[in-house]
Amino acid sequence: MKVLLDYDLCEGHGECVIAAPEVFDLDDAGEKVVLLQEEPDEELREKVVEAVKICPIVALQLEG
Ligand code: SF4
Repeated sequence: MKVLLDYDLCEGHGECVIAAPEVFDLDDAGEKVVLLQEEPDEELREKVVEAVKICPIVALQLEG
């Protein structure tokens, strides 16, 4: 599984960080998401799927 992230769209609200903190973080300014793992382990799939679903501006996609 691979996480695709559109940094230009991200507004940094952090919903994805709450859903999957192992995979997403916010930058020091709290304005943009930081992708901690581009290809997370399969065991994190449920959390990552939730993060993709919860992103309000559809900046995240999951491949595979
Ligand atoms: S949920 Fe979407 S808009 Fe919010 S920080 Fe994550 S990627 Fe950015």
